[in-house]
Amino acid sequence: MIKRSKRLMKKTRVALTLTNCNEVIEVDSNQLIHELKKIFPSERVLTANLDRKMYSYDSSFMARFNSFVPDAVVLPRSVDEVSAVMRMASKHGLPVVPRGAGSGETCGCLATRGGIVLDLSSWDTIEEVDVANMQVIARPGVVHFKLNEHLSRFGLFFPPDPGSTRMCTIGGMVANNSSGLRAVKYGTTEQYVLGLEVVLPDGQVIYTGGVNCRALKNVSGLNLTKFFVGSEGILGVITRVRLRVWPRPKARGIALAVFDDLEKAPAAVLNVYQSGILPSGIEILDSSAIRAINMYQPDLNLPAAEAILIFEVDGNPAGVEWEGQKIVEVVQKQAVSVEWATDPGRMADLWRGRSVVAVAAARLRQDGSRIFAGEDISVPLSRVTEALRRIKELGRYYGVEVVNYGHIGDGNIHTAPVINLDSTDEVERANGLVDAIHRLAIELCGSTTGEHGVGAVRNRYTTDEHGEAAEIMRRLKMCLDPRNIMNPGKLLTPEEDK
Ligand SMILES: Cc1cc2nc3c(=O)[nH]c(=O)nc-3n(C[C@H](O)[C@H](O)[C@H](O)COP(=O)(O)OP(=O)(O)OC[C@H]3O[C@@H](n4cnc5c(N)ncnc54)[C@H](O)[C@@H]3O)c2cc1C
Repeated sequence: MIKRSKRLMKKTRVALTLTNCNEVIEVDSNQLIHELKKIFPSERVLTANLDRKMYSYDSSFMARFNSFVPDAVVLPRSVDEVSAVMRMASKHGLPVVPRGAGSGETCGCLATRGGIVLDLSSWDTIEEVDVANMQVIARPGVVHFKLNEHLSRFGLFFPPDPGSTRMCTIGGMVANNSSGLRAVKYGTTEQYVLGLEVVLPDGQVIYTGGVNCRALKNVSGLNLTKFFVGSEGILGVITRVRLRVWPRPKARGIALAVFDDLEKAPAAVLNVYQSGILPSGIEILDSSAIRAINMYQPDLNLPAAEAILIFEVDGNPAGVEWEGQKIVEVVQKQAVSVEWATDPGRMADLWRGRSVVAVAAARLRQDGSRIFAGEDISVPLSRVTEALRRIKELGRYYGVEVVNYGHIGDGNIHTAPVINLDSTDEVERANGLVDAIHRLAIELCGSTTGEHGVGAVRNRYTTDEHGEAAEIMRRLKMCLDPRNIMNPGKLLTPEEDK
């Protein structure tokens, strides 16, 4: 059992009971601060209550109801600093939690067992755009949007596209294997990570993907790069990333199709694929999402249909036009109406409903808030309709309104429960609903998360989802981190994560 008796920052000598072996480690807080200040200039060591409180939340529902205040926060800006803090934490058995922008939805970057938070967001240098080799090298704190803004000067881009583009960091994206609505064509972050610099829990620094490698293809050795991508900070601290970049497409077009029957929407998607087109995005808004959007922005006046699909295609102008016309031809067999646009103004109009849906959800009721919980399941394409219908039924059963939308092209559904956060009863019912949604995903041969990761909110499903492989994950983690100091309590099934 893991227990923490007192907070580290109390002026007294405190006993922290930490990590896998239940050892009690006496750490003097003044000594700890002194040691941190030997590694970092004092302005990059935060110990004041208010400062630490600022690091006690991310974007998750769980963070709202818990106070995960770290004992200290440091802001590293060099690999030597990260290595030194890991050596110090490892000596004392202190938990260390890497953090990017804190835009995660799973408490992943929170110190759920106390310890030190490494805020990497100010270490945000783009070190090199290696145009000749179609890659970019960056430090972990670079914000996704800024990276792409910089790459656009070279006619290039890094394709994964999370909705949090203006906040999330490259380190956080790699740690979460993030993606977005264009994953249907461009895939997820892991497909672009060529190599990493990682500081291991004992402070050792390694380079994955080849120490000096600048090749785009490399199949030598075990693929440690993939091992760290999506590891959510439980295996080490990512301090440098080498990413593959792609030519930026020159043109884009949008088709919006309206369906009177939900079942017809996935059929239309399949028909588009079978016509030889891979759109860069295929999004669905179901009837609940359409209603919420119309309440939020009545001027949009979306038709009260069972589903709306939005297809985006990109590429060269002639190809985009051809694909758009083909989508119209194929989709109109199932749809009530289809509109195709390449004019930027009209495209923005067609896209507007999708772009506001996350905010619009809360408009379903006056005292409602949209919560980020059970928000990210992923199911096989053939079961998207079943998933959407059953989520609605579950919503009715638990008496919680839900809004459904998402990336139908790859089966990643975003469910937005809307509740009154001041009602304990509603919070409890929402928790029941969310658990049922996660279990539904596993039952439908899908996953509890397609994008946002596991953290501390979905780790209770790790064994259900992965079976005996969950135990291998734990053993691999313990190999690198025998004292379990690296972001403990995340990703692995809680009772095994000791
Ligand atoms: C409005 C909104 C929209 C979103 N849309 C999407 C979306 O479309 N797709 C998607 O995938 N996600 C989405 N997210 C979730 C989130 O933005 C992503 O998971 C993002 O990649 C997290 O980046 P971050 O820098 O905020 O990481 P944080 O939240 O700070 O950390 C996330 C995890 O990564 C670990 N970590 C961070 N940096 C490092 C590092 N350098 N080394 C090791 N571990 C590290 C942390 O320990 C934690 O476990 C959204 C969130 C919001 C609030």
